[in-house]
Amino acid sequence: MVRVGDPAAQLESLAREIGAREIVATGDYGPRGVARDVQVRDALRGRGIDVYFVDSPYVVAPGTVLTKAGTPCRVFGAYRRGWEYQAPVSPESAPIGVRWRKVASTSLDELTNLAASTRPEYFGDLPDAAPGTLPPAGEDAAQVQLERFASHVDTYDRDRDVPGVIGTSQLSAHLRFGSVHPRQVLATVAGHSPGAAVYRTQLCWRDFYADVMFHNPASVRRALQPSFEHLRVDTDARAVARFQAWARGETGYPLVDAGMRQLLEEGWMHNRVRMVAASFLVKHLHLDWRWGARWFMWRLVDGDLASNYHGWQWAAGTGTDASPFHRVFNPTRQAERFDPDGTYVSRYVTELARVTAPQCLQPGGGEGLLRPAGYVTPIVDAPTERVEALARFAEIRRHNRTAS
Ligand code: FAD
Repeated sequence: MVRVGDPAAQLESLAREIGAREIVATGDYGPRGVARDVQVRDALRGRGIDVYFVDSPYVVAPGTVLTKAGTPCRVFGAYRRGWEYQAPVSPESAPIGVRWRKVASTSLDELTNLAASTRPEYFGDLPDAAPGTLPPAGEDAAQVQLERFASHVDTYDRDRDVPGVIGTSQLSAHLRFGSVHPRQVLATVAGHSPGAAVYRTQLCWRDFYADVMFHNPASVRRALQPSFEHLRVDTDARAVARFQAWARGETGYPLVDAGMRQLLEEGWMHNRVRMVAASFLVKHLHLDWRWGARWFMWRLVDGDLASNYHGWQWAAGTGTDASPFHRVFNPTRQAERFDPDGTYVSRYVTELARVTAPQCLQPGGGEGLLRPAGYVTPIVDAPTERVEALARFAEIRRHNRTAS
């Protein structure tokens, strides 16, 4: 059940309906969530209802793992070591004697609309309609998805990078909305296979990014490496047109376009393709990573402040453990490596459905006479723009040297 309106007023009326004098909820660690929770707690206390926020939607709550010196961890390796020490082996067993109030499931569609914020001008007339295909929402749906994934977690390490197969858990939206807790997930997929171990690492990345945001809330607005604030980015009319072509999946680079179209159609995108599409926006289109991050937040059903903005900072080379700026993903090589038979590309870029791999993975779907009708001509030449990106990177390195 979703209730819309002022959180304190809604919670008060719900509490009165069911005769509750105490509300216990999971704590929120995002900058706005924390402010809202304090406001709700104070408002309801004045109306005779006590509110308690307990635990967190993470395996280990943000702010818990610290270095030996008692400072926040700046890199994943150090965080991971501390996290393993803190992570519970299994979840607490369910309390007995509690009468659970079963509420009707809602649609992710509805929840996504509630999470929306203001629309920036550079979105222009990009589509606003909710994705056509959305996964079922709610705890029961999360359990079904979790059981399904548990049956193939052992091959996760092998399949997780192949966007053409369902090799990942697809639990991100459930984790985002709390219809499953990551400790439940860990307990279900626990095991000693390489797949289970790699999966555990991914949940640790989720906690790490939440921890980074907890200690540094501004990291969702500013580059974690301050020198990158000086990186020259394009903002003129041509830049806006390129941004919109990227968002529509019309860059002429098949893997990028397939990902962006999957995002439009399903509100979700495979992780490997998120990395490639994000890198393309920053390093081939020379746009501000925040533009791309906002579009992702606008469309993703799993849109999560910490994972999204730090995923973007990773791809842009500005964040913690970032992929170094000078290592530029080649969108065509990435397609050849991770979608060699074109399964993923031809599923979403229907203009290329009849073109076989490796041709369908090439810019424009092929050169000259081979170019299929109907598919866009590449909006940029990737090798040329790679050189341009590295030249801009050299500028900030020079700037750093003169500033120090
Ligand atoms: P699985 O591969 O099954 O992973 C299991 C879980 O681990 C995920 O559900 C997720 O909760 C967590 N996880 C996996 N990879 C990461 C990661 N790199 N960072 C943080 N958590 C991770 N994830 C989101 O949940 N919300 C976002 O808004 C988001 N935006 C992203 C933006 C960019 C540019 C990039 C590169 C990554 C982003 N991710 C985001 C991380 C990752 O792409 C998704 O979590 C993953 O694709 C979700 O699919 P899955 O549940 O099948 O993942």
